[in-house]
Amino acid sequence: MQYISTRGGGDPKTYSEALLEGLAVDGGLLVPEQLPTVDAATLESWRDLGYADLATEVLGLFATDIPRDDLAALCAAAYSPDTFAAPVPLTPIGGGITLVGLSEGPTLAFKDMAMQFLGQALEYALECTGGVLNIVGATSGDTGSAAEHALRGKERISVFMLSPQGRMSAFQRAQMYSLQDANVHNIAVEGVFDDCQNLVKDLAGDLDFKRAQHLGAVNSINLARITAQVVYYFWAWLRATDSLAPAEREGFEVSFAVPSGNFGNILSGFFARGMGLPIRRLVLAANENNVLDEFFRTGVYRPRSAAQTLATSSPSMDISKASNLERFIFELVGREPQRVVAAWDQLTLAGAFDFAADLPRFADEFGIVSGTSTHDDRLSTIRAVYEQSGTVIDPHTADGVKVAREFLEDGVPMLVLETAKPEKFGETITEALGIELPLSDELKALLAAPQRVTEIPNDESALRTIIETSALH
Ligand SMILES: *Cc1c(COP(=O)(O)O)cnc(C)c1O
Repeated sequence: MQYISTRGGGDPKTYSEALLEGLAVDGGLLVPEQLPTVDAATLESWRDLGYADLATEVLGLFATDIPRDDLAALCAAAYSPDTFAAPVPLTPIGGGITLVGLSEGPTLAFKDMAMQFLGQALEYALECTGGVLNIVGATSGDTGSAAEHALRGKERISVFMLSPQGRMSAFQRAQMYSLQDANVHNIAVEGVFDDCQNLVKDLAGDLDFKRAQHLGAVNSINLARITAQVVYYFWAWLRATDSLAPAEREGFEVSFAVPSGNFGNILSGFFARGMGLPIRRLVLAANENNVLDEFFRTGVYRPRSAAQTLATSSPSMDISKASNLERFIFELVGREPQRVVAAWDQLTLAGAFDFAADLPRFADEFGIVSGTSTHDDRLSTIRAVYEQSGTVIDPHTADGVKVAREFLEDGVPMLVLETAKPEKFGETITEALGIELPLSDELKALLAAPQRVTEIPNDESALRTIIETSALH
């Protein structure tokens, strides 16, 4: 299996190359030259596999350049009981809705699912090439902590993670700054998230520096993350159909609702559907920053500026430019790179592109529908789910449940992806339910642990100095 750019440039890449690369050389995103397919008999033959073994089967269709035994070892390490006590439990919450538990990992958010595999796969790819990699990233909370927990203690990788000083929750700070591993460097920038991201972009734009310091990224466009997320759609379908009579399972359709920001998680579901998994609808749930909902309702994609992006109570979805959408557009335009380039030229020229003429295909052909959830919706959904089932859901998952309810269909189970645990967003839970969530002893210890962070001004030279001094070479 080879990977090509959505904009048609560059040579095809192997999975291992794609995983180290991030963006394609022409600024496009890497996609499989052809999606692998899984027939009903193969799908059924995976029913008794544990999560790591299922991951080996699904990822084996993408990572064809990694020997099967090696891939199995990577998956076993990524999804070991030490990291995920019980990978991906399904929990019915009434009203035809079931939660898919993706937040059982070390940072209590779904990003651990893909990042743990990426950490293993990166170290493996570097061992094969004899290289090292210094990951530089900016985070407003969830991505940075998931990356650090996945890469801590790795021998060929170090992490330089920029975060905005004083703008993360106590919980998010503790998850990152309490790590004492020598290869993890937390850098708190005097500024906001966009300042952090601009510093990273400027640095990555300096190709000489980038090469000399072996800089890399693990952002949401990374192909290994997208493919690792495909696995839990297969897992959830298998678990949702376990209770059916064998004769009823083949082709049995379920729908998934996905709290969305960068369009990474739901894109993985789109891939799973394209591979033949019986998915009826992929329900995209947005918060008030609803550029994606606007696109899937009108066909017009109009990204917003950082200044137009609202700070909401589902902060990990406060994104107004969905970097993975290009992979969907590539399919929408029949995999013609020149049409992708034209759309992005239009975006640069006019600030928007328009696929209104294709609107009927979004649901009919691709299965994607969408909706928006607001702060009040989150609060009332958290309350309603708690009253109905006794389950406390986090604000992002609540956005998913709210929009999922608008697309319920008789006889089609609705699976909502749980993207974080409520403990991470205690303030909103207290606002919704009037209770303080009890913290486990483990979480209390985390909040009390000593922290390690370097504070810098919003200044590129300070960042360069830290990287030059501490990067692996
Ligand atoms: C990252 C994140 C999302 C959005 O996922 P995308 O892949 O960016 O669409 C939703 N909820 C939580 C809790 C997240 O951390």
